[in-house]
Amino acid sequence: MAEEPEIWDVIVIGGGPAGSTTARYVAEGGKKVLVIDGRDSIGSPLQCGELVPTNDEMRRLCPDVPDIDDLLRTPEEAISRRTSEMHIVPPSGRPLKYPFDGLMLNRVLHDEWLVDLASSKGAEYLTGARVEAVDGETVTLRDGRQFMAKVIVGAGGHNDPLRRSHWNESSLKIPIKFVLMDGKFGDAVELHFGSMAPGGYAWVFPKENGANIGLGIQKDLSRGTSLNTLADKFISNYQGEITFRGAGSLPMSGTINSFVKGSHLLVGDSAGMVLPSNGAGITIAMIGGRIAGQTIVSHLDNGTSLHNYETEWKRQMGSVMRNSKLSFRIGSWIMRLPDWILNMAFNPMTKPFVWRFVTCRKPFFIF
Ligand SMILES: Cc1cc2nc3c(=O)[nH]c(=O)nc-3n(C[C@H](O)[C@H](O)[C@H](O)COP(=O)(O)OP(=O)(O)OC[C@H]3O[C@@H](n4cnc5c(N)ncnc54)[C@H](O)[C@@H]3O)c2cc1C
Repeated sequence: MAEEPEIWDVIVIGGGPAGSTTARYVAEGGKKVLVIDGRDSIGSPLQCGELVPTNDEMRRLCPDVPDIDDLLRTPEEAISRRTSEMHIVPPSGRPLKYPFDGLMLNRVLHDEWLVDLASSKGAEYLTGARVEAVDGETVTLRDGRQFMAKVIVGAGGHNDPLRRSHWNESSLKIPIKFVLMDGKFGDAVELHFGSMAPGGYAWVFPKENGANIGLGIQKDLSRGTSLNTLADKFISNYQGEITFRGAGSLPMSGTINSFVKGSHLLVGDSAGMVLPSNGAGITIAMIGGRIAGQTIVSHLDNGTSLHNYETEWKRQMGSVMRNSKLSFRIGSWIMRLPDWILNMAFNPMTKPFVWRFVTCRKPFFIF
């Protein structure tokens, strides 16, 4: 006779920043939560540029998000170095320089720490277990095991199985290649725009003893030049031993229309929770995870609607996401222009506008 599936209050698919944060707040609310992740060690292998804003910078970027210090408790051991400047670099190589308080993470340690935090609140983890299908309250793994829950959360990133099977909305995905390189790379985080990264951007983010260097593109703007060719060319501008090569994909069209269907929720990359104008996804996934976790607890305790998750997300992040989407759309149009025009467009006169684009404020003060 087949074994009866284990029954949980909540199952979370994926234990990245979105899933582990959701699980942390569900467990804090006293509910039984199981996180299922396909990786043996959550966070590995690295798929990230590893830059996050400091908590002070997050308060400026997302002013309607409460209690940032409770949400984002990045431990010292997960910080590779602090940065205080961002350079926006046009094709000419002459940067526009801005003050920016950033943390360069050791992302693998960061995600492991989020797992430990959620576990310390009572969340349980099943790793090395890929979710194959979700049907109503039942989650089926690739190896045939089944689990049941009152609420199921899809936090499996850009290729989440719940999103794939239950939502038909598509997101624009940007393919990315990056490396870790040894050496000295100054103090500033650099974002490079122009034909070296059509429709996307390239980055050089200094770490303690090296840098994370990468590039993402919109394929339909790259005129047949492959991501590999563009990434190799950009990375070859820097000398140093390459110690790691990675790749990934980032949803860049902003949040999808609805995060909730019945007792199913999406959070993090699976719901498009990445700010398209700057690629920030880690902290934004955690903002979504906290709202999702708290909404689920209230739903299980008092029968309140799971759709309150969407309402609260809009209250905290609606205008930031709207501005970021608008900036990305305008930016994608501007980035089609030849490099010589971009070189003229990035100048001391336009410097404040460029910063408004990157930091998700209304690009032109009035709309
Ligand atoms: C190359 C690259 C560079 C980036 N750089 C930055 C950066 O510098 N700063 C920043 O803020 N953001 C960056 N991002 C974005 C950021 O990494 C994501 O937004 C963030 O990780 C989203 O968290 P998440 O929990 O939603 O998804 P993820 O971190 O992708 O976690 C999803 C988890 O789900 C698991 N999973 C997936 N499918 C299944 C399944 N079927 N069964 C079980 N488990 C499953 C995966 O194993 C994974 O552990 C970058 C992304 C990429 C790809």
